[in-house]
Amino acid sequence: MDIFERDAAYVANTYGRFPVQLVKGRGEYVWDESGREYIDLGSGIAVNTFGFSDPVWIEAVTAQLDQLQHASNLYYTDPCVRLAEMICQKTGMSRVFFGNSGAEANECAIKVARKYASDKYGPARHNIITLKNSFHGRTIATLAATGQDVFHKNFGPFPEGFLYADANDLDSVKDLMDENTAAVLVECVQGEGGVVALDKDFLTGVQKLCRENDSLFMVDEVQTGNGRTGWLYSWMAYGLKPDVFTTAKGLGGGLPIGACVIGEKAKATLGKGDHGSTFGGNPTVCAGAISIFQRLSPELLEEVQKKSQYIFDALNGAPGVLGVTGLGFMIGIETAYPVQQVLAGLREKGVLALSAKTKLRLLPPLCISWEALKTAVEAIREVCAP
Ligand code: PLP
Repeated sequence: MDIFERDAAYVANTYGRFPVQLVKGRGEYVWDESGREYIDLGSGIAVNTFGFSDPVWIEAVTAQLDQLQHASNLYYTDPCVRLAEMICQKTGMSRVFFGNSGAEANECAIKVARKYASDKYGPARHNIITLKNSFHGRTIATLAATGQDVFHKNFGPFPEGFLYADANDLDSVKDLMDENTAAVLVECVQGEGGVVALDKDFLTGVQKLCRENDSLFMVDEVQTGNGRTGWLYSWMAYGLKPDVFTTAKGLGGGLPIGACVIGEKAKATLGKGDHGSTFGGNPTVCAGAISIFQRLSPELLEEVQKKSQYIFDALNGAPGVLGVTGLGFMIGIETAYPVQQVLAGLREKGVLALSAKTKLRLLPPLCISWEALKTAVEAIREVCAP
């Protein structure tokens, strides 16, 4: 049996995979089992911040592996504390809970919101408002938080208390907000929802409503975070200040991490025994994450913004391109051809990209060179043209 047949025979059939077996990568380049080279515009879905097998990250991870690969959370370890300290110092937040994925980070945020509200106002105040077309994860609670019916089918009943407002419609949030609203959770750029950057006025309005109601304003930075949008976190691009934000994916650079980052208001909400995760704050993962986080410099972010502008300029109005949306290196492209056809055409030309709903989605590694970027963008223009 070849790998496609063995995968079908033994791996749970939950992914629509591309017919490519990847075996080796370096930076923005990756090779399949036949030795064919591709330029990568997907970053393992916003994970490989500095590309494949980034040598700085490898060194940080292997050095830590050689010291202490894991310790339980019953002990202190330096990488966990150092990473939390760095995140708080760069964002003005106060506490970090580490888990292993975006969904787990959002689960923690939901627990923080409910406990903050319950401690102060009683258990009836447990509602979390999220947005239609959002995506917050695949666990039962984060599926409930996800405002897309398509993900809910077959998996109910869900935990109560999730209400869905229309994105970019402040009245819709107002209508749902009341004395039982613990929090509002938003993505500034809806990634899985089709790379939709929300309006600044709307998000500023939601933050204001939250402040007035003492409901926590929470931002999901799982996909948008860690430099992806050309800002350290997307709430910074919008001039917001969340009470809680969550992140994952690109923070780890290739090892699993999730972080629920809590601001001043709710910093004392979680106490001993309120939450936990065996691998949360694992020293090896955190050592790798430190090596990623400390390279998210203003110069790098500026370079991402410049390269993003180049992509927008080169593709906006190109033949067969119906529109370009997004922020930084999180880009959605509406194409005249069906997106799966575009992706197949790009593979033929040695470029790997992604889709989000009907759009072509680009999430290049932040370190992509101008040369690789220009080659990839030219391939997109050629494949999209009628
Ligand atoms: N939140 C957002 C905005 C995401 O894009 C994703 C994953 O794509 C998640 C949460 C879930 O993250 P994970 O797959 O790490 O659980």
